[in-house]
Amino acid sequence: MPAQILVVEDESAIQELIALNLEQAGQTPILAGSAEEAWTCIQTALPDLVLLDWMLPGQSGVDFARRLRAEPRTRLLPIIMLTARGEEDDKLRGLDTGADDYITKPFSTKELQARIKAVLRRRAPEITDDAIEYHGLNLDPASHRVTGKGKALEMGPTEFRLLHFFLTHPERVYSRTQLLDHVWGDHVFIEERTVDVHIRRLRAALEPARLEAFVQTVRGAGYRFSKAP
Ligand code: CA
Repeated sequence: MPAQILVVEDESAIQELIALNLEQAGQTPILAGSAEEAWTCIQTALPDLVLLDWMLPGQSGVDFARRLRAEPRTRLLPIIMLTARGEEDDKLRGLDTGADDYITKPFSTKELQARIKAVLRRRAPEITDDAIEYHGLNLDPASHRVTGKGKALEMGPTEFRLLHFFLTHPERVYSRTQLLDHVWGDHVFIEERTVDVHIRRLRAALEPARLEAFVQTVRGAGYRFSKAP
């Protein structure tokens, strides 16, 4: 799934350049020229990451970052601040904005991608293209292949995303609501029972490799992915 990246930048030339870079890297840019516009975009759908310019008309990037950190829904949204070279760059780093990283303008495409990937790897590994191995189970997002103990395993796109999420977040219990948010996207109105249906299908898909026991029901809490019985 391509990462949706919200670009909050008032200078249209820089905004277009970033959008082009993101598209070339297979990501989907969503563009906003101010904090207010960005806020509206976020109400519609949560992006996977925000590239946030410090100097914006109206509410500054610093204040907007703090606002995102204060709201429960956007509290964990990965943020990379864009700054101008010089003193303000140092000043910003000293401020407690809650940003995950900073990039100084002008930056190269390579640097932008390296920072985005590093932040996503840390904050949202399920949307990177890194291949994952977990106790005999292998998932490769790039080729969209899953193998269990060397056997190719067939599954639908939702089961694939669910497994990708589990493999990047093993040994933790997730409620049905949390799984809906992470795997189906927030603001998606689906019944919680849908999760159970896809859990069943995922178990069935893992059966040929006898790995279905990795998908565990935790009574009253939700589901956990673990090799431990
Ligand atoms: Ca600016």
